[in-house]
Amino acid sequence: MIYRTFKGKKLSLLGFGCMRFKADPSTGEIDQAKVNEMFDLAIEAGVNYFDTAYPYLGGKSETAMAEALSRYPRESYFIADKFPGHSINRPIDNIALFNRSLEKCRTDYFDFYLLHNINEWSEEKYKSEEYHILPDILKMKEEGKIRSLGFSFHGGPELLDEFLTRHEGEFDFVQIQLNYLDWTLQDAKAKYEIIARHGLGVWVMEPCRGGKLASLPEAQSAKLKALYTSSEKADDFPSDASYAFRFLQELPEVKVVLSGMNEVSQVKDNLHTFEKEWLLTAEERSTLMEIAESLKEGVPCTACRYCCDGCPAGLDIPYLIQCYNDYKFEASITPSMRLDALSEEKLPTACIKCKKCTHACPQGIDVPSILAELAELYAKGPHWGDQIAVRQKQIDDDLG
Ligand code: SF4
Ligand code: SF4
Repeated sequence: MIYRTFKGKKLSLLGFGCMRFKADPSTGEIDQAKVNEMFDLAIEAGVNYFDTAYPYLGGKSETAMAEALSRYPRESYFIADKFPGHSINRPIDNIALFNRSLEKCRTDYFDFYLLHNINEWSEEKYKSEEYHILPDILKMKEEGKIRSLGFSFHGGPELLDEFLTRHEGEFDFVQIQLNYLDWTLQDAKAKYEIIARHGLGVWVMEPCRGGKLASLPEAQSAKLKALYTSSEKADDFPSDASYAFRFLQELPEVKVVLSGMNEVSQVKDNLHTFEKEWLLTAEERSTLMEIAESLKEGVPCTACRYCCDGCPAGLDIPYLIQCYNDYKFEASITPSMRLDALSEEKLPTACIKCKKCTHACPQGIDVPSILAELAELYAKGPHWGDQIAVRQKQIDDDLG
């Protein structure tokens, strides 16, 4: 197993993400025997980092993880959990919720604890004096119930830099969506560099982009395979997923790469990939970048901002185009949340189609058409607001 040192702790670079355990579709009950089997394999191979979050699997991830880990000494593994500030729509008893997570995880401290999902929209909650989240969580750290504090982040580089500057010295690590596709698609390269500049550890989520990079379309997978067919290693062709992980192994500030494993075969494949450092050749690296470009279906905005000054509506055009590109790759909740953060007059519907931006754009992007399509995509959803009521109810039921 590859290990990385972080604040004196020896962390397995492969972390076990506990958000995708298989559950019975009719009862929602998690297949605990399978979780135990996967954990046994991982622990035997040296994995020592397990990541859950209060809302995962309707609250059942914490308990299933704790059940599997209870068969091992507490000091032999690290637990990471998250505070669901992005899932509440009114102030709650933050400390009671934190203690509930400790209880469900059968521990009296968290090695790693994160504010869950900070982005342009949820940041308002995390900084709200009324919600009082950060002061309460910092108090838990002072009391030794949190050993290292971080946050998971889904916003843009500007917010990340601003947030870290505002909270200098309060956080130890940041978890971002990082993979060879999002290196450019979601500005992960810029975010990685910002976190490193602030001297914090980089934690990786979505290393395979929700499985998409683990199972590439035939043409792209064949490109990877072609790199091997001419070598003596042809029979040991690394999986599509292993290429995605190897891209991350090369980044020195990355301390943990989380993989949400739910099959024994997947655990075995990941363990093989993380057995030892296996750096990419220059050809492999450039092939991965070519594949990333070929997977994108959006527009080639370089975020130069030449279009912004002349926009009579004052729209943040590159921000909107990044949301559009994200939607085009996958209709996920992230671009919706980022658009939810904007006031009505900053949404794509505020575009008056004057075309000044298109004339200024060196890439020749037809911005008004893109914004019209973005407005349609946004209207279709999914919307985080619809899910918050369900999440808030889960918290209310749990805290009684
Ligand atoms: S077309 Fe829309 S986005 Fe472009 S400059 Fe005019 S108002 Fe702004
Ligand atoms: S001018 Fe074109 S490339 Fe530059 S930010 Fe605007 S849309 Fe993007």
